[in-house]
Amino acid sequence: MEKGANVRNCGTNAKSGRYTPKLENLLVKKMDVIWNPWHGCRKISEGCLHCYMFRRDAQIGKDSTIVTRTAAFDLPLQKRRDGSFRLQTDGTVYVCMTSDFFLEQADEWRQAAWECMRRRTDLRFTIVTKRIARFTETAPPDWGDGWPHVTICCTCENQKRADERLPVLLELPLQRRAVIHEPMLGEINISPYLATGKIDRVICGGESGAGARVCHYDWIVHSAAQCRRYGVPFVFKQTGARFCKDGRVYTIPRPEQHTQAKKALPDLERRIQNFAAAGFDF
Ligand code: SF4
Repeated sequence: MEKGANVRNCGTNAKSGRYTPKLENLLVKKMDVIWNPWHGCRKISEGCLHCYMFRRDAQIGKDSTIVTRTAAFDLPLQKRRDGSFRLQTDGTVYVCMTSDFFLEQADEWRQAAWECMRRRTDLRFTIVTKRIARFTETAPPDWGDGWPHVTICCTCENQKRADERLPVLLELPLQRRAVIHEPMLGEINISPYLATGKIDRVICGGESGAGARVCHYDWIVHSAAQCRRYGVPFVFKQTGARFCKDGRVYTIPRPEQHTQAKKALPDLERRIQNFAAAGFDF
């Protein structure tokens, strides 16, 4: 593969002609909304080990494997007395953050959830999933080449899951694709997938909570450098609870995990430049 092949023009500086990378910190911003049409899930891969939803439910004695529709099931279509939609935002609507949208146990409800999205073309939805393999059998009949207001974000926590899920993601008829490495469990090479030009964004983050596995800064830098090479916006979302940088493991309290990632951005930029100076030798 040619170095720099399929680099997209987004963010290119008109004067210098150089790609201006987009390094970001927070994924969920103030204007963003979480819509959980159902709750509960089944663990499917390594990233699920310390699932925050299971941990949170355990604190109140709730069985997270019982999957139920929520009161917010039709939230995007709920209206106020004056007939306007209750859900209004210029941000992103994140779908199913206490479950997986493509979970088998939710099959009977999914078409109604798709219908909510189909009718709210004024909103931007993002569906984060580890079950991308179920997309085709569960997509709405009128999906066609994809709905431009719906992004499908595939979770790949390690190399094995990236190589299993990203070929599927890339073959699907989608207008917008994103990849998230969270909790990031190792160095992940997705350069061949980025080179297709079909991935719009990559997000990385560590694991939070008790027993969190260590996230290495080197892995984050490597992912960011791959994104730079192929002109893909990159988000360093948060460090996780245990973060290894330059050989030292730091324990980072939950409230600081986002801010520490944000503080790392200038250093991340410097390290990406080192990769660039070496000709992205990976
Ligand atoms: S797929 Fe997501 S919600 Fe379901 S168990 Fe895994 S981490 Fe938790």
